[in-house]
Amino acid sequence: MTTPIRYTIFPKSPAAHLFEVTVTVDAPAPAGQRFMLPTWIPGSYMIREFARNVVTLRAEANGNAVAVEKIDKATWSCAPCAGPLKLTYEVYAWDLSVRAAHLDDSHGFWNGTSVFLLPESLRAQPCEVEILAPRAHPDWRIATALLPKSAPVAGFGALSFGTFVAETYDELIDHPVEIGTFSHATFDACGTRHHIAITGVHRADVARLTADLKKICETQIVFFEPETKQAPMREYWFLFMVTGDGFGGLEHRASTALMVSRDDLPLAHEAKITAGYRKILSLASHEYFHTWNVKRIKPEPFMDYDLAHENYTKQLWFFEGFTDYYDDLMLVRAGLITPLEYLEIEAENIGRVMAQSGRQKQSLAESSFDAWVKYYRQDENAPNAIVSYYQKGALVGLALDLMIREQTNGAKSLDDVMRALWNECGKCGRGVDESKVEGKGEIERIAERVTGVDLRAFFAEVIDGTGDPDFVKLFAHIGIAMTWRVSATAKPDDPAPPALGAKLTSDANGDAKLAQVFDGGAAQSAGLSAGDVVIAVDGLRVTAGGLDRRVKSYRVGSQIEVVAFRRDELKRFVVTLHAPPPGVCMLLTHDTPLEAKARRMAWLLGIAAAR
Ligand code: ZN
Repeated sequence: MTTPIRYTIFPKSPAAHLFEVTVTVDAPAPAGQRFMLPTWIPGSYMIREFARNVVTLRAEANGNAVAVEKIDKATWSCAPCAGPLKLTYEVYAWDLSVRAAHLDDSHGFWNGTSVFLLPESLRAQPCEVEILAPRAHPDWRIATALLPKSAPVAGFGALSFGTFVAETYDELIDHPVEIGTFSHATFDACGTRHHIAITGVHRADVARLTADLKKICETQIVFFEPETKQAPMREYWFLFMVTGDGFGGLEHRASTALMVSRDDLPLAHEAKITAGYRKILSLASHEYFHTWNVKRIKPEPFMDYDLAHENYTKQLWFFEGFTDYYDDLMLVRAGLITPLEYLEIEAENIGRVMAQSGRQKQSLAESSFDAWVKYYRQDENAPNAIVSYYQKGALVGLALDLMIREQTNGAKSLDDVMRALWNECGKCGRGVDESKVEGKGEIERIAERVTGVDLRAFFAEVIDGTGDPDFVKLFAHIGIAMTWRVSATAKPDDPAPPALGAKLTSDANGDAKLAQVFDGGAAQSAGLSAGDVVIAVDGLRVTAGGLDRRVKSYRVGSQIEVVAFRRDELKRFVVTLHAPPPGVCMLLTHDTPLEAKARRMAWLLGIAAAR
C-alpha cells in the first residue's frame, strides 16, 4: 500500500519568520509513530541540527490530541493511535543561506531538510505537499523543480501555488522552493526547459544571464551525452538569491540554490564579462555540473544517506574537486571566457594551493573524510593543517587530464573518464565504490581501463599522499611555461619584499589583528599568534591598513620590533623578516612548437581525438 505522506506548508507569519507545517500519516506505526528531521543537508557536509528551529509541535488523530515525546535532539515519538495521525508544527526560518530556510515580508525559501519531518520507516513512500500562499501577498509565485500534482503543460515549470508530488522523501527534500515576487526567465538547452528565478533587488540584464547560462548548460549536456544530447532531468531551475555580498551555491538533482552579490550581476550594455560576473557564471557552472557529478554519479556511501549522522567518503576530491576543475573549463568551452583568461584563473588556483603548508600534512582522501570537522569547521590554524579538497582536488583534476592527454598522445582525456563514470555508475544508479581493489579505488580503476595509462603512482602520491602534481612538466608539453614571480607586475629576477607570514584583519578599532599565522613564517618564528593585535613597529604606531606596507619598507633579513596586545597584555617581539613563499604563479603560453599549441587548444576546447 502506498498512501502518500501528506504535507502542507504555509508562510504563517513572515514578520516572525514562521512557517506552519503539517505532516499526515494515514497508517501510523502500531507501537507509536516516530518522526525525525535531518541533522544535515546533502551537499553541505556539516551537522547543522535543523530540529533546533522547530518551535512548537502538536499531534492529533481523529480530532483527539496525541501525546508526543521528544526522544533525542531530532526525533519525536507519538503515542500509539489509529490513523490518520497529523502533526502540526512551526519552523523558525531566518537563515539567509542556500542550506536552510528563510521567510520575511519579501519572500520565502526552504530546503525540505529544514521543514519536512520524516515519518520513521516511511522514507520510500511517495509524498505530497500542498504549498499555501500567504494571505497578505496575493502576488507571490512559486519557483521549484518539484512536480505539480496536476501539471498544466508537460515540461513546464509550476509558478502557481498548489499541490506537488515527490516519489520519495529523499526526492522531496532535494527540491528547494522559493516563493515570492522573483524575476523569472526560461530557456531551452538541448530541448530541456530551464528556468531562472532571481529573488532580491537587482537591475541585472536577465537576457544576458539567460543567454550565457544556456551556453553553459548545452556545453555540459553535450559533454556527458555527446550522442543523445539528453539532459538527465525533466526540467531545471536556477534559484538565485541576490544580496549585497552573498556568495554560495548548493546542488540538487534538478535545481540549484545560489546566493550572489548584486554588484556581480551583468548590467545591460556591459559587453565584457566582469570578474564578478565571471564568478557567478563559474558558480552556476559548478552547481550545474553536479547534476551529473554527485547528484547522479555518487560515492557509494551517498546512495542511501544517513540523514541523522555524518556520511563519510574519501572521494570529495573527485566529486567537489573535479567539479571545480570543470566549472571554469566549461566557461572556455562554452566560449564565455578566453583561453588566456582561463589560464589566469588556473595560475591563481595553483598559487593559492601552493601557499598553504597544510597541503603537506593532510592528503586529499583525508581532507574528504574529515570534511565534517575540518574543511567545514575551519579555524585560524586551517592553512597550516588542512588542504582544500576543492582547490587541490581541482588541480589534481587538471594534472590528471593533462597527464592522460600526454601519455595517450591526445587520444584520451579526463573527459572520457567522466563519461565512463556517468555511463557505468551515474546512469544506472550504482554508487562509486569506496573500497580499494589491489590498492586502487574505483575511480582509478575506471580511469586506467578507459585510458590505458598506469595511474598508480599518481594516485598514491597526490590523492592518498600529500605530493604536488608536476605542473612544470605537464604544462611544458602543451606550450605553457609555469614560473613564479614576487608579484604579478614584477620582472623575473626582482627580489621579493619581506612578509610577516600572517593574514591580517582589522579589529573594531582599526588595529591590525593577526587572523592566521602561517607555519614557518616570520611572525610564528618570533612568537606572534593568531588573535594578537599589532599596534607598533620599531616604535611607530601602525593600523590594519598600514602594517603590510610598513613591513615591505624593510629588506628580507631585517629585524624589527613588533609591539602587540595578546588579550589585554602588551608584549614585544623581535621579528626577523622572511621572503614569502612561493609568490605569484604565472602561466605563459608560447606558440612553438606548433604541436604543443595544438595540444593546448585541444585541451581547452575539449576537442578529443577520440570519443
Ligand atoms: Zn560543489
